[in-house]
Amino acid sequence: MTDQLVTRTVPFLDLSHSVERDAAAFRSAWDRVLGHGGFVGGPEVAEFEQEFAEFCAVDECIGVANGTDALEIVLRALGIGPGDDVVVPANTFFATAEAVCNVGARAVFSDVDPDTLLIDPETLRAALTPNTAAVIAVHLYGQPCDMRALSEVAADAGVVLIEDAAQSHGARYANSEPAAHSVAATYSFYPGKNLGAFGDGGAIVTNDSSLANAMRQISQHGRSDADRYCHDVVGRNSRLDTVQAAVLSVRLRRLPEENAHRSQVFEWYAERLPASVPLVAQAPGRTSSFHLLVARCDDRDGLRRDLAAAGVQTGLHYPVPCHRQVAFAADGHVEPLSVVEAAAASIVSLPIWGYMSEVEVDYVCEQITRLRP
Ligand SMILES: *Cc1c(COP(=O)(O)O)cnc(C)c1O
Repeated sequence: MTDQLVTRTVPFLDLSHSVERDAAAFRSAWDRVLGHGGFVGGPEVAEFEQEFAEFCAVDECIGVANGTDALEIVLRALGIGPGDDVVVPANTFFATAEAVCNVGARAVFSDVDPDTLLIDPETLRAALTPNTAAVIAVHLYGQPCDMRALSEVAADAGVVLIEDAAQSHGARYANSEPAAHSVAATYSFYPGKNLGAFGDGGAIVTNDSSLANAMRQISQHGRSDADRYCHDVVGRNSRLDTVQAAVLSVRLRRLPEENAHRSQVFEWYAERLPASVPLVAQAPGRTSSFHLLVARCDDRDGLRRDLAAAGVQTGLHYPVPCHRQVAFAADGHVEPLSVVEAAAASIVSLPIWGYMSEVEVDYVCEQITRLRP
């Protein structure tokens, strides 16, 4: 128990500064959308798609309704469905595997590297089955996977490589861009992500223009390019709202600055945290977006309780590995995955956001050092 007074509270995430500093720009973006009334498919959508494609240095960007749909649309456009297996790391948000199941394919879970907690060439190889059609590499916490090595394993096995970049806006692997080693990368613009809208949103980026056309069509009811009253395939409705696109254009201009600040926040933590609470390792040659700041502690639940009493909010990403979720229990493919299962019991996500101050990092680290010297 703490014997000190709470001198400060540090939330897990604080978006207020990001919202306030650009409030005027958000208001004028909203006024513009109100003015033309094109709430779906307004000009701001194509503008943002173009800006985000440039930011990612890719040829094509397709705005969609959220990051889960983005994955599902990639899988559908690739023709992945019943009878296919898709390898997904067990350490990811549920949505990665959910998208696989929603196209009728089977999610097969891989273990992760013990240092980075990411899928790696060995864990991918161990998870391949005769029916594997694709693998989804998840750049979890913002740290890119070893894409060159994964793409070699995928090519050897004849399977398609997809990137779930929902946590890694602006991250770079060995100076290469998203979709450089994969067919497509998917993004979420959920408000808490590094590039967050004021509601749901998502995007897919790719350098394959025929895949891009197929994905755009699926996201718009399978509508024909030539005639909007003709539907060539059964698609679905998954669009990025105009007002969210307008918000995202404003947020995108701040992303490099916010990511640079997150990297500084990581450095502050790395200097100040005690050895009893080490951070998850950063592999060389990768530039993380530092979406989440994940540390490990033997007595994780006790530490979280004590930090909460000291005014510090923490999170868990993720306490139940995907292959242990009840939703997948019926699939009967619950092999033990020892690294991810051990990690799930000891990981704790510490506060980080685009403008977190050094004083706040100091406070969190002082409390951890006091509680777990
Ligand atoms: C947030 C997230 C998603 C889902 O994105 P939504 O926009 O919430 O649908 C998928 N994968 C990962 C790794 C995520 O963090």
